[in-house]
Amino acid sequence: MHGAVVEAFGKPLVFKDFDIPVPGHGQILVKTEACGVCHTDLHAAKGDWPLKPTLPFIPGHEAIGIVIGMGDGVTAVRMGERVGVPWLYSACGHCEYCLSAWETVCPEAKFGGYTQNGGFADYVIADPNYVAHIPEGLSATEAAPLICAGITTYKGIKETKARPGQWIAISGCGGLGHLGIQYAKAMGLKVCAVDIDDGKLEHAKRLGADVTINAKTGDPAAAVKAATGGGAHGVLITAPSLPAFKQGVAMTRKRGVCVLVGLPPGEFPAPLFDMVANCISIVGSFVGTRADMAECLAFAADGKVKADIELQPLSAINDVLERLEAGDVPSRVVIDFS
Ligand code: NAD
Ligand code: ZN
Ligand code: ZN
Repeated sequence: MHGAVVEAFGKPLVFKDFDIPVPGHGQILVKTEACGVCHTDLHAAKGDWPLKPTLPFIPGHEAIGIVIGMGDGVTAVRMGERVGVPWLYSACGHCEYCLSAWETVCPEAKFGGYTQNGGFADYVIADPNYVAHIPEGLSATEAAPLICAGITTYKGIKETKARPGQWIAISGCGGLGHLGIQYAKAMGLKVCAVDIDDGKLEHAKRLGADVTINAKTGDPAAAVKAATGGGAHGVLITAPSLPAFKQGVAMTRKRGVCVLVGLPPGEFPAPLFDMVANCISIVGSFVGTRADMAECLAFAADGKVKADIELQPLSAINDVLERLEAGDVPSRVVIDFS
């Protein structure tokens, strides 16, 4: 097995060869066909977050592949099935969060490409109870971005509680945001797309954004308020940049919900008086559950959402991560293992 390994935070990934892992009881072995490169992989490789992965590890949590082996006791998948190995690698199944279908916040949750080796390798071990089931008709490369960028924005939009006909502002139109715009339109929302890059904003317009706003060239909150007649009913912040968070709260309509999904390291100041006086909610949202996964994949299988992908070989991973940091990836790079 050939994989790209983080051996030290902030250093290039190292290519290594290993024995092909043998699936244990209740595990499956997946032959990787494709794996998307998420900005989270960059945070992981840099050790950006308070909860750090144990070194060394193989990143990648948008892996799609074929089940080619299984240990004893596996009933949830078939040999030969196409599955996705996502960020939510597994959960305990019996805590108060798992019992209420909030397995994403299970205290025993394991994370693909973070606490468990992920998809920047040609084989990956997975938990069959938590893999994504890829619908017929979706190729591995087009499915890959959906199992993190897709599910995270789909769930985040649901968390805004914005209803058809209302406005959503999506801050950050990269890997996550370009899918978020499409989910929002498919869900009947009007979209204000906010980014700091004119190329991303032109692309947002092509994807159906009703209004585009460059946050670098003016006050994006004032621009959203003007475009929406008082602020967006829902705001989804995907930008990996702290200034976007204060701006996102400021573009939220009275009684609206501002959902945070971007994860730059650090903290941001919340405007206490405005939040209280305008009854604004700020909500964190972390990927999505297995039910959200099935729903978000169904949108793509129905042709309502399509990831824009650039294919690259695994050997290009360090260059891809550098481009992601510089904002030079138009939408999503997918590592193609075929
Ligand atoms: P990306 O690099 O593909 O896209 C980020 C976009 O944000 C780019 O288009 C960039 O131009 C734009 N941007 C940067 N600064 C901005 C600003 N100040 N205002 C508006 N836009 C700005 O990254 P991605 O893969 O889409 O991931 C985005 C973030 O979401 C990362 O922090 C990642 O870790 C996080 N994430 C969170 C979850 C979750 O479950 N909450 C899941 C996946 C990713
Ligand atoms: Zn991700
Ligand atoms: Zn649990």
